[in-house]
Amino acid sequence: MPEDVRVTDAPPCPDPDPPSLQALTDRCVQCGLCLPTCPTYALDGLESESPRGRIALARALDDGRLASTPTTDAHLDHCLGCRRCEAVCPARVDFGAILVRARAGQRARRRPGLRQRGAEWLSARPRALSALLGLYRQAWPLLPAPLRPLPRPPASPTRMAGKMDGTTVAIFTGCVARSYETGLHAAVSRLLAGIGQQAVFPDGQGCCGTLHAHAGDRDTAAALAARNRAAFSGTATALTLTSGCHEAVADAVPGTRDAIDHLADHADELRFAPRPERVALHLPCSQRNVVGNDAALRGLLARVPGLEVVVLDAGFGCCGAAGTQMLTDPARAERFRQPLLDQLAASGATRLLSANIGCRLHLGNGTALPVQHPLELLADCLA
Ligand code: SF4
Ligand code: SF4
Repeated sequence: MPEDVRVTDAPPCPDPDPPSLQALTDRCVQCGLCLPTCPTYALDGLESESPRGRIALARALDDGRLASTPTTDAHLDHCLGCRRCEAVCPARVDFGAILVRARAGQRARRRPGLRQRGAEWLSARPRALSALLGLYRQAWPLLPAPLRPLPRPPASPTRMAGKMDGTTVAIFTGCVARSYETGLHAAVSRLLAGIGQQAVFPDGQGCCGTLHAHAGDRDTAAALAARNRAAFSGTATALTLTSGCHEAVADAVPGTRDAIDHLADHADELRFAPRPERVALHLPCSQRNVVGNDAALRGLLARVPGLEVVVLDAGFGCCGAAGTQMLTDPARAERFRQPLLDQLAASGATRLLSANIGCRLHLGNGTALPVQHPLELLADCLA
């Protein structure tokens, strides 16, 4: 199977009778309980920058009561997709699904910008993305800071494979993460070996499609999901390493779990050596509000003797990376990141941990401290 994703050749994904935007927005009773939890509402203080305001806006645009303008587009663009609003909503409004449908309508009216199109094109083609990141790594020392949107990638991309059978655990490696997570792949392999399991990295997998879905391109997202379903066919357990990818992979591939949950279930089989160090822990929005395993992660870290964990929670804890916002609107993304960087600097921590690749790239570009996935630190601490 070729490495690059040819989305036009992929079979369609099943999506039986998806609810309409009207049906999804009908659930909102406009109580406003979500407003105090929304980072963009806190930033701008506008109803139209709140979950309730965006739901009303999406509905009005969809049923034609309101014509789109650059201002209405900006309110939809600014949503971070953090889904804090979902977590507190008493009516169980599926804001994630509303956002995807609203942006699909927006995409039909307005062509995405060049940076967004470039990110979508590259993330769907891992080979081209890896080649470009290889060049970026070479050029990085010569580039001025404004031309360094991402940290320097590590030396060699992962090319780990392995034959799947009933005893192995298949690892989802993603798109941009694949070039940055060489160390994480080795770390997870060591942790799995510690519980008597073998990691394999199926060929043919690619981007999870979240980046495309959140920008309203549901067809490409569905095609990428179908591609991953085919790549992981025959495996009983697939593990995701990035909280932002998890939901899309879990929808596409049966038997998907987040690696943190999987290892937490086997925590009694792992032994850790003492590690007298203070580390900062960033809990990505997708980890807290979608995967929901922040407690499992804290439980794993608590098993390392001497490890002191400081949780970064400034500014709602949202770093502002928000998929591609850190590339398409870096100034706005910076406004969410800075409170966390200030808290990190004041914490006395010697490294930063975060379980989402987008957050690690965005935060890592603003600090000189080492930034890792928490499982990398745990693997380093294995006795
Ligand atoms: S999304 Fe939920 S919490 Fe927010 S206003 Fe609507 S019903 Fe209330
Ligand atoms: S997803 Fe996050 S930024 Fe968007 S409306 Fe909900 S709470 Fe606000």
